[in-house]
This record gives sequence, structure tokens and C-alpha cells, in this order.
Amino acid sequence: MEKRDYYEVLGVSKTATADELKKAYRKLALKYHPDKNPGDKEAEEKFKEAAEAYDVLSDADKRAKYDQFGHNMGPQGFPGGGSYGYSTGGMSMDDIFSAFGDIFGGHVHFDMGGFGSATGGGRRARPRQNRGDDLRITLKLSLEDIANGVSKTLKLKAFCKDEHCNGTGAKDGTSFTTCPTCHGTGTVTRAHQTFLGMQQVQAVCPDCNGEGKIINEKCHYCNGTGVEHREQTVSFNIPAGVSDGMTLTIKGKGNAPMHGGINGDLLVVIEEIKHPELIRDGNDVVYNLMLDFPTAALGGSVEVPTIGGRARLKIAPGTQPGKILRLRGKGLPSTDGYGKGDELINVMVYVPENLTDEEKNEIEKLRNSPNMQPTASVKDRIFSKLRHIFD
Ligand SMILES: [Zn+2]
Ligand SMILES: [Zn+2]
Repeated sequence: MEKRDYYEVLGVSKTATADELKKAYRKLALKYHPDKNPGDKEAEEKFKEAAEAYDVLSDADKRAKYDQFGHNMGPQGFPGGGSYGYSTGGMSMDDIFSAFGDIFGGHVHFDMGGFGSATGGGRRARPRQNRGDDLRITLKLSLEDIANGVSKTLKLKAFCKDEHCNGTGAKDGTSFTTCPTCHGTGTVTRAHQTFLGMQQVQAVCPDCNGEGKIINEKCHYCNGTGVEHREQTVSFNIPAGVSDGMTLTIKGKGNAPMHGGINGDLLVVIEEIKHPELIRDGNDVVYNLMLDFPTAALGGSVEVPTIGGRARLKIAPGTQPGKILRLRGKGLPSTDGYGKGDELINVMVYVPENLTDEEKNEIEKLRNSPNMQPTASVKDRIFSKLRHIFD
């Protein structure tokens, strides 16, 4: 089935504010909430669809990417096909409730008794999954790297799981006991006022911070943190066509959290190194060519720089300044994989400034030749092309 547009799912405009998004999502969440629609598969799908849309649109970074690439995101948040890269491919109910707890009131989520019995199993509370912080780096890329895409292997300092204790922070990875307050579930149940009325809600256990266990003896390698700050090697691919300021998300290559859990992401911010001769304009590149007067008048060929090389270009006799020549497909590929930009050659003609007496005499002989004067139709043709520059 075709995936619906996220704005359409929430019934908001593309310019909706954070507040409007939240309101729209609350309304849908309330309408399709599993507690209100027990056993209704369609309502559950709608509920999940709305949660997914809200997950993306409520995050400025994800929203910007979605606005640019739509659902067309690759597996690591990279454009280029495949399924949407952030969080979806089906959020589970657990994900939804832990991600949007604040929407449902406080940092807690519904007791899912109603929903659990509807699906037959009953939802077991489980310890909170820690997530490490994201790491952010800036990556400088040449136009050549951007044109072709590039594989990078970098050494980065990050918090990594301490293998001595398997990231737990407990001696040998085993020296802990089950938290007596929450009996290992990581959550405690309380009555809580929400917009659906009084609900039994689960909150993070205050005694174990939701981890469900308490360390008896700390691992002495990491002093009980479960992490060590060290250099790690990270490899990833940058797709062709990225641009300055774009942020790529490399899943799971950020910091490890304390006491085990899932890693944060590595955020790679692209910085484009200016090319010495070519100017980027979207997927096109522009080269300003200063043509000598004899070649402009008589024709010939010139060599121009291209991304990663040079190309020979034929110049027709009578080539005028302001003319734009095009090398098809010599620009940059677009990130969605469709098509390639061109190289545009902006022709200027050099009028000689320092001439010998002999050269002056040669040109003087031509001064009164009628062919040296532009005709009305030539002026019209050239000026109409230049007009847009002054509009
Ligand atoms: Zn506890
Ligand atoms: Zn350790």
C-alpha cells in the first residue's frame, strides 16, 4: 500500500507549528487509542500511523529531511530508496508509548491492561532501555567526493561499552541484585490523572532509575559506569550528491549509554570544500571562461576544468560574451538518484589591455570594416539574453 503523506495523516498544513502538530496528534491518538477501541485492528493501524507521522514531524531534523526527500529514505537516513530510515518500519506499541509519554501526560504511559487483554497476552512491564548520546562530527568533502560518493573510515573518541563487565558496570557483569522496589521491572504503578481521565500508569522506578537492578560491586575497570572513553574506528558511506550543511545519521555509531543499552547515533554534518575554479549551483556547476578575442572571433577549442578532470570544448566562430555553453551530465548527481546536473560555461571575452604598436596597427586596420560593427539584429539577440540579469 502507498504510504500516506505525514502531513495528510495528521491533517495539518506543511507549515504547521509544533503546537498544531501536537494538537492534531493528540486528537487522533485519543480517537484511535487502543483502550477506546479494544480489538479494532484498523484503529490500531491508524494509531500507529499517526504516531509515526508525529515522530518524524515533531523532530526538526527528521522533518527537514522528510520535507526534502519524502518517504524516499535509505536504511541509514540516507536518501536513495528503500524504506524510511528513522524509526519506522512499524513502531511497536511499546515504542509509541515510550516515545510520546509526554503527549499522554507526564513522563509516564498508560497501563495497557485493556489493550493487552485485547491482544490476548497482557503487556509485561520491562526495564527501560537506555540510549547513549549522539555524536556529531563535521566532515569536509571535496566536490569530487560529493560527485562520486565516498567511503570513510574514521577514528573517533566515543563512550564505548566496557567489555570487562559487558557494559553493565557490575563486577564481572554479574554482581548485581534485582531491585526490591520494582522487582526488576524498572517501573512502578501509580494512579495518574490524564486527559482520558484517571488511569493506572507506570512510572520509572526511582530506586534503580528504571534499570531493574542494583549493582552490588562495581566493575573496577569502568568504575561502575559500564563505559570507557576510547578511540573507535567507524566506517560509513556518503552517498553522491550531498550538500553543504546536510546532516547524515549513522545509526548506532554514537556513544554507548551507561549500564548497557543501545548506542546513540553518529551525526555527520557535511561541509563542502570550495573548488578552486568551479562554483556549485544546486546540482549544476558553473565555470567562468575568459575567452581570448581571436578564439571568440575565429573559433577554436579551449580546455576547461570539470569535476575531477578537464574537458576540451569547441568554440564556434563569433561566440559572444554572455553565451552559456553546457556540458551535459558533468554536474553532480541528485541525492534521490534521479538524473545529474550539468556544467555551465559562462563565456566572457577578454579585450586586450596592453598592445604593442605593431598590434595596434593591425587592429586599427580593421576599425572601419563594416563587419566589426554589430548589426541591430545581433544587438537584439544578445541583449535579450542578458536582459534577465538586470531585471
Ligand atoms: Zn527499581
Ligand atoms: Zn566495566
